[in-house]
Amino acid sequence: MYRSLEPEDIAFRDEVRAFLREHLSPKLSRATHLTTSVFPEPEIGHAWHRILWQQGWVAPGWPVEYGGTGWSLVQRWIFATETARAGAPALSPMGLKMVGPVIMRFGSPEQKAHYLPRILAGDDYWCQGYSEPGSGSDLASLQTRAVRDGEHYVINGTKTWTTHAHHANRMFALVRTGSEDTPRHRGISFLLLDMQSPGITIRPIRTIGSDHEVNQVFFDDVRVPVAQRIGEEGQGWAIAKYLLEFERGGSLNSGGLRCHLEELLRLARHTPRGDGCMLDDPDIALAFSQVEIDIDALEMTELRVMASLQTGQNPGAVSSLMKLRWSEIEQAMTHLGVRLLGPDALVWEHTRPLFAADARPVLDDLARPVTPKHLNARAFTIFGGTSEIQRDIIARELLGTVY
Ligand SMILES: Cc1cc2nc3c(=O)[nH]c(=O)nc-3n(C[C@H](O)[C@H](O)[C@H](O)COP(=O)(O)OP(=O)(O)OC[C@H]3O[C@@H](n4cnc5c(N)ncnc54)[C@H](O)[C@@H]3O)c2cc1C
Repeated sequence: MYRSLEPEDIAFRDEVRAFLREHLSPKLSRATHLTTSVFPEPEIGHAWHRILWQQGWVAPGWPVEYGGTGWSLVQRWIFATETARAGAPALSPMGLKMVGPVIMRFGSPEQKAHYLPRILAGDDYWCQGYSEPGSGSDLASLQTRAVRDGEHYVINGTKTWTTHAHHANRMFALVRTGSEDTPRHRGISFLLLDMQSPGITIRPIRTIGSDHEVNQVFFDDVRVPVAQRIGEEGQGWAIAKYLLEFERGGSLNSGGLRCHLEELLRLARHTPRGDGCMLDDPDIALAFSQVEIDIDALEMTELRVMASLQTGQNPGAVSSLMKLRWSEIEQAMTHLGVRLLGPDALVWEHTRPLFAADARPVLDDLARPVTPKHLNARAFTIFGGTSEIQRDIIARELLGTVY
């Protein structure tokens, strides 16, 4: 992993490690290990957010003028790798990595002054209102309508699959503001909503692994001040695409993948096979090698992308490549975990989160999250744009296929 670090980078790594030893409690890292979803429960994600915020380390990707750390690319990579390796919770991306960069790029001075410090401090918890029933991959077909009434928009319609809408106090949403004959991509606007607004109803959706992370959200005559629009009316599609590049490619995920791999290796060593352990099975050993090679390759891509971000560019279509590979590698690993467990993979625990105090575990901590993570990871190749859509973008924009 660490190929050749300069002395100052080694000093930085040691500083990060010391910080983690002091501030990342065993309770928090155990809860992270037992988290089934890519999104941590706010009770652990928010706790870690506040700790990093107090240290000034919560937004390494942000420009210094808005509260970023000013770290070099190598330092950001060290930080992401060390925190993942230590078992720190992931931070909710919706504020820091999605709407934050959008507000910096397209927001008014007032919007920047109000929202950016609140995102940094974790005062607002955001959710993403893009998808609708019938408008997922074909997002530009969205129907939720915002009609202008003086200094407000009045919103009617529904959003679905909205992650953590039941925890969020804010939503960024795409709404249709254009008339029937406006070309559909030009009739969309980007609004910031207060989730406490009258007329918003949230209905939970429970997913295949018993998790409640997504919801359907209904809007009945919800009034949103025009001042809460980002950019111009009708500019929403360009803003949405800018945000999606950060959603898909704005993270360093190889550290998290490596941490997951180490957990699986521990499980394999712990699981008997004949006189030895599961790693003696050549098929299992091969599957581990394949995953490790895939993580190495993704890590190289991430570093390449981070280098371009460092020079002020946005990720571009390579973000699709990173999202595709991250999701496929995670799924390969959760599948490997199920193979390691064998019949124990059928043991089912309903309690969510798994780290809840009243849980009555049947399996040990190493084995417990394996099947729930496997089921939850089915969604990884769907959210943020399905694999088919990512492959389409890669073919069109990176490989240059002509249709
Ligand atoms: C766990 C989870 C969390 C999510 N969180 C959020 C969230 O917080 N906010 C939000 O707005 N959305 C969220 N989503 C929604 C997600 O972005 C959509 O599910 C996704 O974009 C796919 O849209 P769809 O479900 O409508 O499927 P569809 O678009 O109907 O696709 C169905 C199938 O058809 C394929 N397909 C569609 N079009 C094409 C094409 N042109 N070429 C080839 N194949 C195609 C797809 O790949 C897929 O296999 C979440 C989804 C999940 C599962």
